[in-house]
Amino acid sequence: MPIVSIGTPLGAGCSSCGYCGPPGGRSAAETSYKKSGLIASQLSCEVYQKMIDRGWRRSGTYCYAPDLRRSCCPQYTIKLDANEFKPSRSQRKLVNRWNRYVFQQKNPKPSSKSSSSTFTLSTSIHAAEYSVDRPPAAQLFRVTLEASSFSQEKYALYERYQTQIHHDYDNTPVSFRRFLVQSPLVAENIPYPSEPPEHLPLRYGSYHQMYRLDGELIAMGVLDILPSCISSVYFMYDSRWEKFSLGKLSALREISLAKDIHDAGIATMTSLYMGFYIHSCQKMRYKGEYSPSYLVDPEEYTWHPLDTCIPLLDRYRYATFAHPERSLEGSDDPGETDFPETQVTIPDDILEDVQIIYSIQGGVVSVIPVTLSDRWKNPYARDEIMSCIVALGVDLSKEIIFRL
Ligand SMILES: [Zn+2]
Repeated sequence: MPIVSIGTPLGAGCSSCGYCGPPGGRSAAETSYKKSGLIASQLSCEVYQKMIDRGWRRSGTYCYAPDLRRSCCPQYTIKLDANEFKPSRSQRKLVNRWNRYVFQQKNPKPSSKSSSSTFTLSTSIHAAEYSVDRPPAAQLFRVTLEASSFSQEKYALYERYQTQIHHDYDNTPVSFRRFLVQSPLVAENIPYPSEPPEHLPLRYGSYHQMYRLDGELIAMGVLDILPSCISSVYFMYDSRWEKFSLGKLSALREISLAKDIHDAGIATMTSLYMGFYIHSCQKMRYKGEYSPSYLVDPEEYTWHPLDTCIPLLDRYRYATFAHPERSLEGSDDPGETDFPETQVTIPDDILEDVQIIYSIQGGVVSVIPVTLSDRWKNPYARDEIMSCIVALGVDLSKEIIFRL
């Protein structure tokens, strides 16, 4: 039976921008951006894959799509081709340096020529991990995948990471669960043609990737494993290992995971999604250091090589790659006043297959076309639902049952 996707549309909300802001002296209104949202009760991995291909992300069960036209710091979805990825020299050095640390437990000497010339990502990234086939390392390094769940140990790592690295002291187990444990994704079997290598996941869904050194949890990645990609949700680490750039190592490991799943017979698995690429924010540009990467066009949702996007991003506040002539300047203005009415509406007859829950009784769910619901008669509620449908697109909206 196909997995049903269900969510509550939130309508266009306004968020303050976390990428530019107070130091430049701008007011909160000037550094805000619009976004559409959906609280997802449950989503099939296939539907969520289609959502992120249209610029959506999730934080727990809250899914959102920024409106790039009306953002001071437009957030473009970036994907890396995991099968074509070639690690750069500095990326290879990071992996080798960590491997030596695990084996030697001492400050390593410069690497020999031979070790760098034999570098292959999938073997090198696993080289320092514990394995029965390998001589024991000085320290026991293990990386495991487990279904997303709460534990006190994970929360303790998260709290240390937030306070030490981000100077954010406002953390609770409840916020950790809401942000990084809860997920609307319904796990589904990955259709491997034959039994995959042991380190590969058997199901699509939301995972925690646990990095342990001598038993201690030193880092954790939050990942969604989807039909076409690994989507990186979050990564946290203990600041004692900051000098090893564990964030960059985790990206390399995630690339390697996508490639290994692909090589185990899942032809659709091609990419690592690292979230949003924000050209206006220097700190976020590191995501462009992995090549070959592509950005999604904010209007046509086609993919464009990052190299061809950069000149447009340098020139315009809002860039469309499929139709560069529609790009917009005006770097200081989130755009609200330039576009008095950007609320696109779609005629009712095109929406007749978009469904909303009418009633749930005795385990039976009844649905009706959204255009026949009481909410549709209320202009405010209709705007909310419409904003969500526009951001999802009509075809994808038909694959999600709305509830209010
Ligand atoms: Zn901004």
